Amino acid sequence: MPIVVKNPIVEMDGDEMTRVIWKMIKEKLILPHVSVDLKYFDLGIRERDATDDGVTVEAAEAIKQFGVGVKCATITPNAARVKEYGLKKQWASPNGTIRSILDGTVFRKPIIVRNIPPAVRAWKQPIIIGRHAYGDIYKNCEMVVKGPGRAEIVFTPTAGGASETVAVHEFKGPGVIMGMHNTEKSIRSFAKACIQYALAERAHIWFGAKDTISKLYHGYFRDIFADEVERARPSLEQAGISYRYMLIDDAVAQIMKSEGGMLWACMNYDGDVMSDMVAAGFGSLGLMTSVLVSPDGKYEFEAAHGTVMRHYYEHRKGNPTSTNSVATIFAWTGALGRRGELDGTPDVVSFARKIEQSVIRTKDLAAIAEHKPPKYALTEEFIDAVAASL
Ligand code: NAP
Ligand code: MG
Repeated sequence: MPIVVKNPIVEMDGDEMTRVIWKMIKEKLILPHVSVDLKYFDLGIRERDATDDGVTVEAAEAIKQFGVGVKCATITPNAARVKEYGLKKQWASPNGTIRSILDGTVFRKPIIVRNIPPAVRAWKQPIIIGRHAYGDIYKNCEMVVKGPGRAEIVFTPTAGGASETVAVHEFKGPGVIMGMHNTEKSIRSFAKACIQYALAERAHIWFGAKDTISKLYHGYFRDIFADEVERARPSLEQAGISYRYMLIDDAVAQIMKSEGGMLWACMNYDGDVMSDMVAAGFGSLGLMTSVLVSPDGKYEFEAAHGTVMRHYYEHRKGNPTSTNSVATIFAWTGALGRRGELDGTPDVVSFARKIEQSVIRTKDLAAIAEHKPPKYALTEEFIDAVAASL
């Protein structure tokens, strides 16, 4: 008797080695056990090219409609890829397109396996990073000034009325200037997505900024975040979730001493830097999952790594590969688990957790042999071992 998933899951196929793994996971771990209506979109590079990237937009709209999606890694084409696949153009990153349609925030969560102890000894629970993915230096404008002169910021209201001006610096010689911005709407969406995710994951929320130095810009983030937490207070309290605001340097020091288990909300640049630190601290890219959450609670799950191109070329030559499928399996179990929670079907949730436990057990066992040949489990053998233990 297969386990029945009540509502559909949006499935987005992808490219290269992860596409190979995708099919194995679906056929060996998911479909033999669950009956699920998968709304399939092929985001492989050829189909995106053939549909002028329309398929990516359709997939994002489907996530909006059904609430839960799972995505395989995809090629973001550069000039070399345009040549390799004979593409019409360098299509935009599918993740960027989906993120902007869902107005989502990306959360990265490491998978903890016993035989890969974190580099930081205190860490026992995953540290989830929520990165605000709009504005600041990622949408800045910059200027090198060649000599003495005056730099100012001028704001001209669209509605008319007087402009506002602040002096940036009175240059006595050459130097450099940067202008950056953010919007209330985007910061609110970010705060809301963090609260949604913390509620789903039962994680405490930390947020750090540098409001002692940047009283207006960073202070603006602090105040909006606090305001959204205040609005959500009843549900946060009911779930036993706390909120801590800290200076960013204090947050960094506290993180290194903590056991983990929190959602660390980060401004854009902090999230960029700290997610790489946390990923390296926990072990490997193959053990890092990524979840996109919209402010109204739509979820898209994927592995944080790319299509593992080098392994794909080995695979195509018929050589054995040892691509780590754990993060991709966890993308599937994340989506199944979330679907089950939303649908109120505990058997679906517990099946998802069962696959995860089975993966972790298999990884633990694989480690014993890993000392002899440096790469023990081959791509398909690993998935077969998980399937056998289900
Ligand atoms: P990548 O696919 O993440 O792989 C980089 C290297 O990291 C691999 O060559 C491999 O190292 C190691 N690695 C990553 N995941 C692994 C896994 N599951 N198991 C074992 N080793 C793993 O990044 P990339 O090579 O820079 O990018 C390849 C393509 O992926 C690009 O076209 C890029 O646009 C795309 N990409 C997509 C996403 C996404 O869809 N979310 C994200 C990033 C990149 P070794 O070669 O040393 O074994
Ligand atoms: Mg980075």
